[in-house]
Amino acid sequence: MTLLLKAQPLVDVRIPEMQQLCSRLKAQGITPKLVVVLVGDNPASLSYITNKRKLCEKVGASFELRQLPPSTTATDFLEAMNGINTDPSVHGCIIQLPVYGESAGLKLEALVDAHKDVDGFHPTNTANLYLGRVHVKSLLPCTPKGVMSLLKHYKIDVKGKTAVVIGRSQIVGKPMSLLLNLAGATVTMCHSGTGDLSEHTRRADIVISAVGKINLLTAQHFDPARKTVVIDVGMNKNAGGKLLGDCDFNSVQSVVAAITPVPGGVGPMTVLSLIENLLTAAQNQKENV
Ligand code: NAD
Repeated sequence: MTLLLKAQPLVDVRIPEMQQLCSRLKAQGITPKLVVVLVGDNPASLSYITNKRKLCEKVGASFELRQLPPSTTATDFLEAMNGINTDPSVHGCIIQLPVYGESAGLKLEALVDAHKDVDGFHPTNTANLYLGRVHVKSLLPCTPKGVMSLLKHYKIDVKGKTAVVIGRSQIVGKPMSLLLNLAGATVTMCHSGTGDLSEHTRRADIVISAVGKINLLTAQHFDPARKTVVIDVGMNKNAGGKLLGDCDFNSVQSVVAAITPVPGGVGPMTVLSLIENLLTAAQNQKENV
């Protein structure tokens, strides 16, 4: 029987914990606040932002959408970011991608102050992860952090396991590989230049796919004897508008030990990790770290 690694049971555990933490911070005069900066009105971005707003408000934190027109100049964008970075009532900020116009030409990852960088993309936070300086106060990239939480929740031990990460992006693949490595896995990072993907996936205990291609992985990519755990990060819309992962779900789930559903797997974990980072950032700023 294949185990379905759903996010909801973990989300249900974490929400009351986060509500309690938020109440404690409020009792000390700190209302954690997230600002999301959006350039333009991309409908997909607005829908992602709605999920973030809902969870933020559910735990008792405050939320603000700072929407800028696509005509925003680089100077105006930098000025807006400076205002957010220097506002002590703001504890976390993310720049919702994609951005348009002149803002797209900026080095966005460095524009949110490292202490408010709840996406975990700032070069200082990236360097800390690279250097292995990871602890409870770290602001880690949300999707890889969420995947690690999901694995822990389902008691999937990573230490000593063979893990294959497919994708080498700055926001998912690379930090995912580093976190698995720090947790004691032997990690292979596959990417668009990898020759035979199945050669790697068939000998993996854990496969994490972050590519963005429907049906990239099918049953033939797995050796049923390995009892592989599959984490599908991919979020793809088919011609009919249905949300699908990178796996041909029905074919893959018949030959692996566990798999995340899409939707309902990694997506909610990413939002959960963002709000966890917000509360961590608020605590860190309180302690003046
Ligand atoms: P990206 O486009 O930046 O990176 C994709 C990676 O896939 C690249 O590193 C590329 O080398 C690799 N790749 C492309 N074709 C390949 C192939 N045939 N074989 C092996 N590797 C190949 O994408 P990203 O931002 O890392 O996102 C990846 C996917 O994850 C997307 O579908 C995205 O929507 C999704 N995503 C989901 C969440 C979530 O919360 N569930 C969060 C972030 C991204």
